[in-house]
Amino acid sequence: MSDRYQIKKSNAHYAKAVNRLPLGVSSNYRSWGPDETLYISHGKGARLWDIDGNEYVDYRLGFGPAILGYGDDRVDAAARDGMNVGGPTALSTETEWAVADRIAGMVDSVEMVRFANSGTEAVMAALRLARSYTGRSRHIMIEGGYHGLSDGVLWETHHEVDASGNVALEVKPEGKGVPPLLRTLFDAVPLNDAGSLEQVLKERGDDVAALLIEVILGNAGSIASEPAYLQHIRSLCDEYGVILLIDEVKTGFRVARGGVQELMGVQADLCTFAKAMGNGYPISALAGKAEIMSTIGPEGSAQGGTYAAHPVSLAAAEKTLEILDETDALERIARYGEQLQGALSGLLSARGVVHTWSGHASMGGIFFTEEAPRNYEDWVSSDYEFYEALSARLIRSGILVEPDSREPFFISAAHDDSCLNETVEKFEVALDAVLEERSGSS
Ligand code: PMP
Repeated sequence: MSDRYQIKKSNAHYAKAVNRLPLGVSSNYRSWGPDETLYISHGKGARLWDIDGNEYVDYRLGFGPAILGYGDDRVDAAARDGMNVGGPTALSTETEWAVADRIAGMVDSVEMVRFANSGTEAVMAALRLARSYTGRSRHIMIEGGYHGLSDGVLWETHHEVDASGNVALEVKPEGKGVPPLLRTLFDAVPLNDAGSLEQVLKERGDDVAALLIEVILGNAGSIASEPAYLQHIRSLCDEYGVILLIDEVKTGFRVARGGVQELMGVQADLCTFAKAMGNGYPISALAGKAEIMSTIGPEGSAQGGTYAAHPVSLAAAEKTLEILDETDALERIARYGEQLQGALSGLLSARGVVHTWSGHASMGGIFFTEEAPRNYEDWVSSDYEFYEALSARLIRSGILVEPDSREPFFISAAHDDSCLNETVEKFEVALDAVLEERSGSS
């Protein structure tokens, strides 16, 4: 490993922070333990600096939001203008219509929009709306999907592999405190398996309000839905009167202007957005068909909150979406992703390392398997330990990827040739070290 890399200040800060902040952080996913947790001083463009002064090319992008890069001057200037409103007033501004209209112009299925602050909130409200509109209580989720921290969806797919390599999956709550009773309100089915979905719908379709799906599993290696599967689930939802609720918190305004719905040619009844829409400012949206959305209100379902459509975040979203809609930012992001994947594949293939990329170039997942993964079970069966060894070395050399292989490589419009060259160079060194380590231990 690089002998110059050290994070003494981060380690010391963790020791202090852990006394005031559980796990030393403000979100469980940011804690990598006493020796590895990083504290950041600042980011700019595609790069981050930690408090020890280490510089990183960042492929985590805060789990996706910094689509234009950290501290984008255009977005930050707009956000500063947003401050002139004076803060949330418990009344609405004209900008809300402007941003809703922009979203409706970008995403085909969207006729109406409501704003919230986080992906969690948007999904929670969308699911409630689906229940209110259909008068049904159940929902269906996809194994390996993630939809935020509200209790109804805070269920993980756990796995066990027996001695013969057979995989058993089980859905469990993420952590304690999620009422077990809620497990009785949903089913989980594998991606790309319309038969399993149909089976559930045949048994209890009359009670199902929504199919909640990430069309690209952005929290499970970016595994993509197949086109025929998408057509099939769209028609099953129509047949059984189930709302197709596409969670675009990661894919929205990233994989295409019209999100994964445009990319894959499918239309949601309801969809959710967050992350890329505000370039890091806290804002999210639930959106969809007017027939459904217009039932939000006192006679239908509740949605809102003190900070919904916060003027600073809203101004940032207005500018971010304008840039994503009117410039070639998304094309450049995809091109960078393709170049990165091509270069890394070249290094891996030259060394005989079998691998495949999944998802979209702007948020690609890498699998050390021969065949493209089709569902979460394929992630379980992949060599994710190889990824973990590689990612640990990459981080120490200044390439910040997520230690968990289920998070994709997020690309921003600020990733440039210097980032690409540095990444490829350091990837080669890390790869050779891991391969050497493996050959030594085998
Ligand atoms: N849905 C999806 C698909 C997500 O990826 C996430 C966050 N990673 C969420 C919902 C929750 O969003 P937030 O963290 O903003 O609450």
